[in-house]
Amino acid sequence: MISLASIIAPLLIQCKTEIIIEFSMNWEYKEVMKDNNIILYSHGACNEVTGSKHFIEYNGKTIQIDSGMFQGRRAESYEKNHTLPFDPSKTDCILLTHGHFDHSGALPVMVNNGFSGNIYSTPATRDIANIILFDSAYIQQKDSEYLRDKAMKYPDRNLKVYEPLYDSSDVIKTLQQFVTINNRREFIPVDGFKAEFFDAGHILGSSMICLTVGEGLKIGYSGDLGRKNLPILKDPETMYDLDYLVLEGTYGDRLHESVGSGGERLAGIVKKVVKTGGKIIIPAFTIERTQEIIYILHLLQLENRIPRIPIYVDSPMAVNATSIFKIHSECFDKETYEDFTSNNINPFGFDNINYVQSVRESKEINSKKGPMIIISASGMAENGRILHHLKNNIEDKRAIITIVGFMAAHTLGRKLVEGEKSIKIFGKNYEVNAEIEKLNAFSAHADYNEIKEWVSGYDLKRLKKIFLVHGENKSLVNLRSELLSIGVNSVEIVEYGKTYGINSERGK
Ligand SMILES: [Zn+2]
Repeated sequence: MISLASIIAPLLIQCKTEIIIEFSMNWEYKEVMKDNNIILYSHGACNEVTGSKHFIEYNGKTIQIDSGMFQGRRAESYEKNHTLPFDPSKTDCILLTHGHFDHSGALPVMVNNGFSGNIYSTPATRDIANIILFDSAYIQQKDSEYLRDKAMKYPDRNLKVYEPLYDSSDVIKTLQQFVTINNRREFIPVDGFKAEFFDAGHILGSSMICLTVGEGLKIGYSGDLGRKNLPILKDPETMYDLDYLVLEGTYGDRLHESVGSGGERLAGIVKKVVKTGGKIIIPAFTIERTQEIIYILHLLQLENRIPRIPIYVDSPMAVNATSIFKIHSECFDKETYEDFTSNNINPFGFDNINYVQSVRESKEINSKKGPMIIISASGMAENGRILHHLKNNIEDKRAIITIVGFMAAHTLGRKLVEGEKSIKIFGKNYEVNAEIEKLNAFSAHADYNEIKEWVSGYDLKRLKKIFLVHGENKSLVNLRSELLSIGVNSVEIVEYGKTYGINSERGK
């Protein structure tokens, strides 16, 4: 028989642990508040790259920077996304740096849990978030249905069904809380703060944020820091001179190929299939990477560096995302303006490009002869239409599978990058006879040399401290020593939930 004590005891322990954690957080908070009037803390993207949620408190107001979803192992990330360790109704407003899922995906979770303030972003970021959030609601619904069916089919396996965290009606409520403002337009998000977005050069609409707190203390948030010379986008800007900076370090221990080398290599691959009649298969993220590849191919054609061969963009979401790019020419760099916009040429539309929506058209591509280029999703070749194109071409020696993005561990994309000779698609094994080409020139995050160069643009005497977020620990440790080597006064790796104090009087 189960005793009452055996049920109550674990509950008491759990309760006690929560009280202790809450007590120690409150105690730490009060201690920090004794000497400081500005408080910073993060509930995500600490020693990891997902779940960005950073907070700043001053003058009785709380601003949250980003509200991203955690990604990774299903059970663990579901728990982290489902149970917020703070009260969303106490956040006065959210400033959103960009639309990527790991920065915007949890906005409806905030709204469902009582957040009623404004969500400030650039107009392009709002539009990108719109696509990302609806897509996420749809995927969560489908995932949940699949798990429910499986649980009913195998009742003895005790399978857990994960309910969607939000649906499309929650997304609509969230979108109604957006207030959009362009880069370089100062605004007052809440009393005691002024805010200004600056171009981050990471994805369409992406921004970094400069907050002026109280009488003039400047605190910067890099968001995801982009790179110079990326196609379409403006280069990352330098904000005003800062007193404190919260900086990302995704690639704090890595160096990339130069952006310029990407076009050259892509041209080489196209010329090769023109000779052999093969097909180029490119798994690409639907937002940004797909448009960058289309843009580069268009430019290479205009410069007569590659012949015109059919290009298929086979992903309904990529088609929608591309239409958003078309209407946000305010985000384009000088080159895109001069080569395309000023001549009334659409960078993403030309004779030999075909945007594919229907499943029938998608299947028809298979019966067409090469040479051709197929750009399809998902970006890491885990699901979606790209799997059909890989299945149909991977055993063909003339095909070239071109990897243009980051491939996480255990994904099909990573297996291809690592040169596996036999892979499984839809439960069947295929020999990898196709050539695999890897282009890492298109990364949208600055590497550590690029981060150092960007940080050097600030007055390092004034900059008292850099707080590092958004990176694996190994990457942030390396970045810390790189930053100290160029004369940054102090660099701290932010710990999850820890309270950091700043005194606005002392900080001036
Ligand atoms: Zn991003």
